[in-house]
Amino acid sequence: MKGVRMSESPDLSRRAAATLPVVVVGAGPVGLAAAAELLERGVEPLVLERGHGAGAAVAQWRHVRLFSQWDELTAPAARRLLDARGWRHPAPDGYPTGGEWVEQYLRPLAGALGQRVRYGAEVVGVARRGRDRVVDSGRDSEPLTVHVRARDGAQQRIIARAVIDASGTWGSANPLGGDGLPALGERAAADRIGYRVPDLDDAQVRARYAGRHVAVVGSGHSALTALVALVGLAAVEPGTRISWVLRRGAVGAVFGGGDADQLPARGALGRRARQAAEDGHVTVVPGFRTDAVEPDADGRLTLVSSGGQRIEAVDEVVVLTGFRPDLSWLSEVRLALDPVLQAPLALAPLIDPNVHSCGTVYPHGAKELEHPEPGVFLAGMKSYGRAPTFLALTGYEQVRSIAADIAGDRAAAERVELTLPETGVCGGAGLFDEPAAEVDGGCAGPATAEVLTLSAAPASG
Ligand SMILES: Cc1cc2nc3c(=O)[nH]c(=O)nc-3n(C[C@H](O)[C@H](O)[C@H](O)COP(=O)(O)OP(=O)(O)OC[C@H]3O[C@@H](n4cnc5c(N)ncnc54)[C@H](O)[C@@H]3O)c2cc1C
Repeated sequence: MKGVRMSESPDLSRRAAATLPVVVVGAGPVGLAAAAELLERGVEPLVLERGHGAGAAVAQWRHVRLFSQWDELTAPAARRLLDARGWRHPAPDGYPTGGEWVEQYLRPLAGALGQRVRYGAEVVGVARRGRDRVVDSGRDSEPLTVHVRARDGAQQRIIARAVIDASGTWGSANPLGGDGLPALGERAAADRIGYRVPDLDDAQVRARYAGRHVAVVGSGHSALTALVALVGLAAVEPGTRISWVLRRGAVGAVFGGGDADQLPARGALGRRARQAAEDGHVTVVPGFRTDAVEPDADGRLTLVSSGGQRIEAVDEVVVLTGFRPDLSWLSEVRLALDPVLQAPLALAPLIDPNVHSCGTVYPHGAKELEHPEPGVFLAGMKSYGRAPTFLALTGYEQVRSIAADIAGDRAAAERVELTLPETGVCGGAGLFDEPAAEVDGGCAGPATAEVLTLSAAPASG
């Protein structure tokens, strides 16, 4: 029929699609590793990064020292790509800061990928070409469209053979509210609430917390890192005091597996935090589910729990309660996500903190990460949804397998090439969140309610 272009046969479309790039969302450690894996297999990657440079999210926690050493933080295919360019490998057993991870590895890696990495390119949508999520036909033959917004607001569409979403979760921190939604008054008190580990080497940040009553909320590694840093500040800045606010009823396993942790630096962080708590530098407030933040007459804050307990005269709140994936721009593709964790269905049972024991997850790849939508994968930190125990090593193995799958090498996609370290802690966040009868012995805080109405007197004493 004149003027009407008939559609291609599915086979033709499939062959044409094989020449399209695989779009990788995010130039973080896992996105860049994915690009290196694809390139090695002769598949053309295009990495879209909304930030100004490689590792834009990691750069925002550049002052935090990682508990993994260099050889656990570089991906095999990325190392091969870098080695071919005479990369100076950092000492494998050193522990970099986030900033060093970016400078010494992620930037050179992005440099090696050259024009295949585009900055200032935010992915705002992914869809099947010409089909919304309801349409069945063509889902395995039509390519994907990736909707991109440039820094100047210009919109672009890229046609992709497959999409690996390695956009992380750093941009969507969990709120202070114990029910997962912002606490009453949380937004209004935004100038006194931070969601990142404070960089106390920065004079401005230091001045914000020195001599103040700081409430640290959360129980993961970031919270422990913040506690240890703030205790250091309290030692030299009189009047600094710290309340450590925990949803779970007992402190016990928060400190991790110590010597039993197969990542020694992670175990050591737990031991230092335990020491800080036992030395009485920190007032521990367990079993506290924040419901509201109220300003008081002195311009300070009172945290109120859903049980009516109160933590008064707080100057600053540091909320480190984890992250969640931003799924908003994936609404037109068919994902199969676990209703609890928002992680791929087959992966979720391996990482669920409500049932998962000992912080272990066996390595997994394309099979566990696939969705009803062909060619769409969530990888890296984002693939864990709300589960807290992601390690870069896990992400590197995920993208090795995904790249093999996209390249059609099923055997390599299914092979497991990694053993992951155990935390030495059995039981996870979900389990420990249950109210427990008592606080782990030795920690500084008296049981909940009494501590809560204490005034501005230093917690350490
Ligand atoms: C403080 C901290 C300490 C950690 N320490 C360790 C450790 O010691 N060992 C370990 O193994 N793991 C550690 N992790 C966990 C994990 O390895 C890191 O978070 C890692 O950065 C995750 O890599 P990623 O590539 O999945 O995500 P990210 O590093 O978050 O990278 C995602 C990238 O995607 C970009 N992006 C986001 N949305 C879009 C979009 N819509 N369009 C385009 N680009 C987008 C972001 O700007 C970012 O650059 C730590 C995490 C944190 C937060």
